[in-house]
This record gives sequence, structure tokens and C-alpha cells, in this order.
Amino acid sequence: MTKTIEQIAAMCGGVPSPGAQLDAAVSGVVTDSRKLSPGCLFVPLAGERFDGHDYGAAALAEGAGGLLWQRDKGPAPEGNAVLVEDTLAALQRLASAYLKETAPRVVGITGSNGKTTTKDMVTALLATRYRVHKTQGNFNNHIGLPLTILSMPEDTEIAVLEMGMSARGEIALLTQIAPPDVAVITNIGESHLLQLGSRLEIARAKLEIAEGLKPGGLLILNGDEPLLAQVMSEPGFAGPKEMQTVRFGMDEANDDYPTGLLQTDGATSMFTCRTLGDRTLTLPLPGMHNVINALAAIAVARHFGLDGAAITEGFGALKLTGMRIEVTKTAAGVTLLNDAYNASPTSMRAALEVLQGMKAGGSRIAVLGDMLELGEREIEFHREIGAGADPERIDAILTCGPLSRHLAEAARERGIREVHAFEDKEELGDLLVRLVRPGDVVLFKASRGMRLEEVLRRLQDGP
Ligand code: ATP
Ligand code: MG
Repeated sequence: MTKTIEQIAAMCGGVPSPGAQLDAAVSGVVTDSRKLSPGCLFVPLAGERFDGHDYGAAALAEGAGGLLWQRDKGPAPEGNAVLVEDTLAALQRLASAYLKETAPRVVGITGSNGKTTTKDMVTALLATRYRVHKTQGNFNNHIGLPLTILSMPEDTEIAVLEMGMSARGEIALLTQIAPPDVAVITNIGESHLLQLGSRLEIARAKLEIAEGLKPGGLLILNGDEPLLAQVMSEPGFAGPKEMQTVRFGMDEANDDYPTGLLQTDGATSMFTCRTLGDRTLTLPLPGMHNVINALAAIAVARHFGLDGAAITEGFGALKLTGMRIEVTKTAAGVTLLNDAYNASPTSMRAALEVLQGMKAGGSRIAVLGDMLELGEREIEFHREIGAGADPERIDAILTCGPLSRHLAEAARERGIREVHAFEDKEELGDLLVRLVRPGDVVLFKASRGMRLEEVLRRLQDGP
């Protein structure tokens, strides 16, 4: 985005500072003063620990073309400043105005798990026929979403935006900034149960994306999740006029469901889908959950007129955002499944399913850490994971953290041969290093706060 200071002020509802040069152009928007590009617009945000305004003058000195400035932060630094009441709200207004002006069609993607994966899939498919811009990485909140929009090329035809949340009202805000033409709800899990209290409440929060659709918009939702249908029949639910719906999932009552599953080697998945006849689709990803994500992406692609050939081509070009079940092999011949990026019960079950489906020359070992922020039923959730492990297909489970102790206990009762519970990552690592043999497959999965990748690194580095 390239705009003059005068245009920026009009777009975000601000006023140029007295010394500002109205026709000076800025290009690109950053909120992190360490990531300035020459001539960009710096938007200082007030965080809990840092206030971007402290770096305002330095940003201009280091080549920013201009900045937004919140009035209550004192006098703006000398240069091209636009004065606003609230820089965060101004950033959001700026994004919203830019989106209106460039007018791409918007696909909004939410859900408890699989947002980023589905976003990457939708983009890969649509990019075969359209100019597509997508959320980079995980920039899916009230700051990341505006930044995603503001980094969009002007000739973008479709914007694929990930919309995340941890409380009610957050998705509603994101849809006010970027009202979707198409909204996707991947699933309802248990992430943020602590903040929201129940899965029903999580479903209500996700369905804010449907309420934010444009009139006549399309909602693509996981039809296997009864809570979504339940919330949509509540009197409080208000979708847009003439909302269309498409359902995907395992169940044959859905519009898009797999008619055949030809799981291959644990690294790729092959399947057929009802709406695409007997065409076999290949995903460079393991796991049933990824087939489900792919069904959602197919539904989006069909809406935009893609045929089976384009969809096959798109999946062939799929590139994923890092740290989601990364499969690597160590020099010693041990296969590592790195899913230590984050965990909730739904995603942990999915990851275990992937491990259980892997071909292994040796043992299948799961290294699992605590799932955080699950609220009062946290112990029960951990037990359920342990009880769901399959002793025929998992040889050992090593856990880390006080909550996972319950997971370990249930896994032992279930009959998993070798189970060890640790509080300490060092000790866990010591045992793991002794336990693994060439040909083994080892999964790492825990909430971000557990930093389980530190244990994984010990195997990577090797003896
Ligand atoms: P975040 O809330 O961190 O943005 P996300 O919703 O974007 O997460 P992804 O990054 O796509 O989700 O996937 C995170 C993990 O969730 C994956 O590594 C995988 O284990 C699991 N996962 C992905 N899709 C599904 C699904 N449809 N159902 C269950 N688990 C899934
Ligand atoms: Mg994500």
C-alpha cells in the first residue's frame, strides 16, 4: 500500500500534525520499530511492557516515512505524523478502508484447530486461478489481521484471512474490519476453554464469523460438530440475509465428505471426495485431520469455480507454515515428528493418530507435555488422551509436567507397555536418549509454554 500522509489521515480518521508534509508518500505499515522498511508508516502501539511511542522519533530518524501518533502520548515528534485518538483503532480503520478500496473477495477462516493449515490449503488451491494474498504465519488477531490486510498488493483478487480468538467478541471485531464473503469454521475443540467456560460458548464465539458475513455470504462449516447446528438454531444467532451454507466432515450427511481414504506412508494422505467424483487427491500431509481440513479447502475452491484438475494442481503446490508436524530424520536414523508448537485435546488426539499410522522400523514413542488453559476439566482431558492411546500401535509414552502425569496414569491402565512420567525436561531427555534406537519414530507434542522442542533438540544433536 502506498499512500500520502493526507490519504492516511483520511483513511484512519486522524489529522496530520502541523509540521507534516501532506503529499509525502508512505509505503507499507509496521508496528515493530525493529522491522522498519524505508519510507514505511510506523504505527506505535502501547503494549503491556513496551510503548511503541517511545521509539517514534527514532523510527523517523531511521527512515520511516511517517507515523501515527496517539494524542495522549504528548507532542508528536517532528516530521510526518498523523494524530489519532487511539493508534490500534486507527490501524484497524486504516486496514478496513484499504480493504474497501481494493475490494478483493474475503475468505475468513476460524476454528479451534487447523486454521493455519486450512488457510495454506485454501491459498494453494485458489492461487491456481486467482491472485491471492494470505495471512503470513499466524498473524490472526486484532493486530495481525490489519497488518495482513495492509501488506496486501492492490491487485489482490482474494484475501484469505485467518481469524483467531480467545474470547467472545474478538471474531466479531475481525469481521467488522474484514467482512468475509466466505467464512470457514474448521472445528470446535477445547482450546481457550479456560477463558470461555464451555465448548458451547466456544461454538458461539466461532459462529460470530457467520454473523459477520456479507449479505448472501457463504458459511462453510464442520458438519460433524453438533454444537454448530445447535448454536445456529438459537434465537440469539443472527446470520446475514440469505446466508448460504456448505457442510464438510466425515459424515455422509455432509456436502463434502471422503468417499475413500487411501492412507499411505504416514507422510502423505490420499483420498476421494464426494463432490469430486472418483478423482484421487494427494496431500503432502499425514493424518485424518488434514483430510478434513482439505475438505474445507475444497468447498472454498468449488465456490470460486475451481474444478477437480485445478484442485489437484493446487494441492500439489501446497506450502505450509512451519512447526506443524514437521517430519525429519536424525543422522542416527530416528524419525522425529515435531508438533511441539502447541497442543489442545483435539490436536493431541490428531497427532497421536498420525504417530499410530506411521510405518516404523522400530518403536513408536510419544513424548507428551501438559496442555495448558483447559479450565476445571483439565485432569479429565489429560486422562482421556492417555486412555485413547492404542497399545497395539504405541510402544512408549513419556510425559512431562504435572497434568500429563494423569495422562501417563491412564495410558498405563490402558496397557501401553512403557510409560514414564517426568516433571523435569532434563530427566525426560536423559531417558529418551537412552531409549531410542535407529528406526524409531518419536512424536513431540505439548502446549507452547512447555517448550518441548528443547527435548527434541537433544535427539537432533545426536550422541
Ligand atoms: P493456532 O490457534 O495456533 O493459530 P491453528 O488453528 O492455526 O492454530 P494449525 O496451526 O493449522 O492450527 O494446526 C495446529 C495443530 O493442530 C496441528 O499441528 C495439528 O496437530 C492440529 N490440527 C490441525 N488441523 C486439525 C483438525 N482439523 N482437527 C484436529 N487437529 C488439527
Ligand atoms: Mg494458526
